Amino acid sequence: MVTADRPMRLTILGATGSIGTSTLDLVTRNPDRFEIVALTANGNAEGLAALARQHRAQRAVVADAAAYPALKTALSGSGIEAAGGPAAVIEAARMPADCVVGAIVGAAGLEPTLAAVAQGCRIALANKECLVSAGGVFMSAVAASGAELLPVDSEHAGVFQALAGHDRAGVSRIVITASGGPFRTWSAERIAAATVTDALKHPNWSMGRKITIDSATLMNKGLELIEAHHLFAMPPERLAAIVHPQSIVHALVEYIDGSVVAQLANPDMRSPIALALSWPKRMHAPTPPLDLAKLACLSFEAPDHARFPALQVAIDAMARGPGATAALNAANEVAVEAFLAGKSGIPGIALAVQRTLNHMDATPLGLAAPSTLADVLALDAEARRVARQKVEGLL
Ligand code: NDP
Repeated sequence: MVTADRPMRLTILGATGSIGTSTLDLVTRNPDRFEIVALTANGNAEGLAALARQHRAQRAVVADAAAYPALKTALSGSGIEAAGGPAAVIEAARMPADCVVGAIVGAAGLEPTLAAVAQGCRIALANKECLVSAGGVFMSAVAASGAELLPVDSEHAGVFQALAGHDRAGVSRIVITASGGPFRTWSAERIAAATVTDALKHPNWSMGRKITIDSATLMNKGLELIEAHHLFAMPPERLAAIVHPQSIVHALVEYIDGSVVAQLANPDMRSPIALALSWPKRMHAPTPPLDLAKLACLSFEAPDHARFPALQVAIDAMARGPGATAALNAANEVAVEAFLAGKSGIPGIALAVQRTLNHMDATPLGLAAPSTLADVLALDAEARRVARQKVEGLL
């Protein structure tokens, strides 16, 4: 339960990442508001230990068991509990907390975040892959435990605010914006020759590597449409994405009377994180105030599906259903890893994902909707296996 009369007990899954450290920046600025229960990471034992000491966490956990000895050494004498391995991350997510920030990247975050959901606390969810991979299973778990799910993704935090206080029956459409990424003005030929360094240069946001590549392909916007489909129970045909290079307007909710409610803010993840931590109140975030006169111009354009095919692949998977989105997510993770390892170009990402979906659709297990976590994990594993073959096929 979140109450105002004592500090919020906070756990951060993925504490060493971009969202995790932005969250801890807010904690540093508001030391009386929070008490850190658990912080987790994958392999960055040194970074995690430093954060755990700085914030006097009760427990610090690395998912990669090989990193545990380094974590234990780095925390010796601190009184902070140290643990290692995927099961220990799940245990940390179960420790009683008022709010758990889900900021692990990828489907690796699914089981720990579900463990947090099961304790029925507030979940500040950044890890969109949880919903893309297991939306139905995840939302059923939220309903069953009574957890309070609040979006951290800036567009979804925008939708959440533009919906607040309005009758849902009056909503006609939800539109989320995309910056267009580093390749927005590039030709298809130039995109095909883009390097990892080119793709990691996001114009407006500083984020982890995986989401930065997803932004470069626009797959991120596809993942976010699927995320919105689950978070706001909106049918796919009433969800849309529009390119907005300034990243000031994050989302627009259109109502049946023709009115549109938009949410605006300078691009700084500490704003939506602060919202998720303090809702229904507001807490101060260091995001610079918006100066529209100085900005002078906000522009919008339709996404170019020819140069950015990944967006349509994701939209088609959303229409196809939860089996397709689980496979899409897994295949995309494999394809992005391959790109980051220099094994494929940007066009290879959408191609490998599409070929994985086509391949799986033609098999007996196919893309049937998963109804349990075990089904999701099986589908995810199969999609990864197929996607690795498809990536090899591109070489
Ligand atoms: P980062 O790559 O910066 O951080 C990821 C975090 O997850 C790190 O703490 C990392 O630990 C941990 N991690 C990685 N793999 C595993 C694993 N297998 N098991 C457990 N922990 C793991 O990612 P971001 O912070 O950028 O993104 C996190 C999530 O938030 C993603 O789902 C992303 O889409 C979403 N998001 C991010 C935004 C942003 O601005 N960054 C905006 C909106 C959404 P270690 O450091 O040890 O590797």
